[in-house]
Amino acid sequence: MSAAKWSVESPSDLGRELHGWVRDLYPLNRSLTGPGVRATLDWLSSVLEGAPERHEVPTGTPVLDWTVPDEWTVREAWIADPDGRRVVDFAEHNLHLVGYSTPYSGRLSLEQLRPHLHSLPEEPDLIPYRTSYYGATWGFCLPHRQLEALPEGEYEVMIDVDLGPGSLSYADLLIPGRSDQEVLVSAHTCHPSLANDNLSGLAVSVALARHLLAQDACELSYRFVWAPGTIGALTWLARNREETAKIRGGLVLACLGIGDWHYKRSRPGDATVDRAVAHVLRHSGESFALRDFIPWGYDERQYGSPGFNLAVGQFSATPHGEFAEYHTSADDPDLVDPERLAGAVQRLLETFEVLEGESRWRNLSPYGEPQLGRRGLYGSLGGSGGRERELALLWVLNQSDGVASLLDIAERAGIPFARVRWAAEELETAGLLERLG
Ligand code: ZN
Repeated sequence: MSAAKWSVESPSDLGRELHGWVRDLYPLNRSLTGPGVRATLDWLSSVLEGAPERHEVPTGTPVLDWTVPDEWTVREAWIADPDGRRVVDFAEHNLHLVGYSTPYSGRLSLEQLRPHLHSLPEEPDLIPYRTSYYGATWGFCLPHRQLEALPEGEYEVMIDVDLGPGSLSYADLLIPGRSDQEVLVSAHTCHPSLANDNLSGLAVSVALARHLLAQDACELSYRFVWAPGTIGALTWLARNREETAKIRGGLVLACLGIGDWHYKRSRPGDATVDRAVAHVLRHSGESFALRDFIPWGYDERQYGSPGFNLAVGQFSATPHGEFAEYHTSADDPDLVDPERLAGAVQRLLETFEVLEGESRWRNLSPYGEPQLGRRGLYGSLGGSGGRERELALLWVLNQSDGVASLLDIAERAGIPFARVRWAAEELETAGLLERLG
């Protein structure tokens, strides 16, 4: 297995490219359904050269305890003030329209209009992000400063939207490995012009898929799911119930563009994926935090509902709701740090490397320490790092009793997984170690 398989060749180039994707996707009006989601999936298919499978699930389809909703398409939406000037216009920013607003056209006094207007008094220059997926209503979002300055008088409101039977769009991709055991990577596709919350996860997941597609077959199979939050994951689970038995672990990716790494453990909490991410972060030299599972956040709570109980954790930088720009117009592409995006790809590839290499071995010469010199293993230890490599060989020999795994050994020894894996392979070549089932 080559080291290049699990590393980013040029982080600065990759960071720039991913940031370009975030900029390109930013203007699309994504939602649970509709043309903005399809355009996002078109983009995804083009980057991944048609590899993902596209799915359209009709409105009304039952998915677990839920139902696929109506499809939402916006043609135009605006408010004109008493002088006829368009003061709020969806064409200028798609956060201006509450997601899933119902059609409306009419004239209203400011007092009648007010309950339909949403702003953030504590952030008076930002447009908030609001949706009303399951309550039939309409509304607009605008900066509080602008709302406060609206004069009395009669306003004209136009919301030209379709909200009716259609379908929910999602994409998935299975990259088969030698084993049918799968690693799941999931990112939501339902946020409109918001960069860190949503597009960072999309960009990083697509970069991971592209990287894996370009390699020789991996040990494990990798399954990517790109679907709207909650209802999309539920739809995928409902349609792939059998497949989920193969998922050994997985990650929901979101908010990867700013701040320190955060990993929220899966519902099981001590699965290999949980230990692998923690191990990678511990050896990354970067700041990070580990948190326990809570049934709140992104789709890890669907994958980790008790019926499925999949070991799916959530990997992010500063998590949702914990950065000031969250769910506002300030979450724009300028907020997202290209270096973080490339860094996330690197950390996740390292996590995959651990998942791929995790295995148990048995020392075939367990009575006393075998002579390494006689087998040419000291010969390979010259130069820098010789001492560390020797120690790795000794740790693997000492701990390989058929019970401890390579990750157990790496953790106990405080040695990066890749070195422990290297030691196991060297010892196998020398006839001192045997891999167990
Ligand atoms: Zn969000």
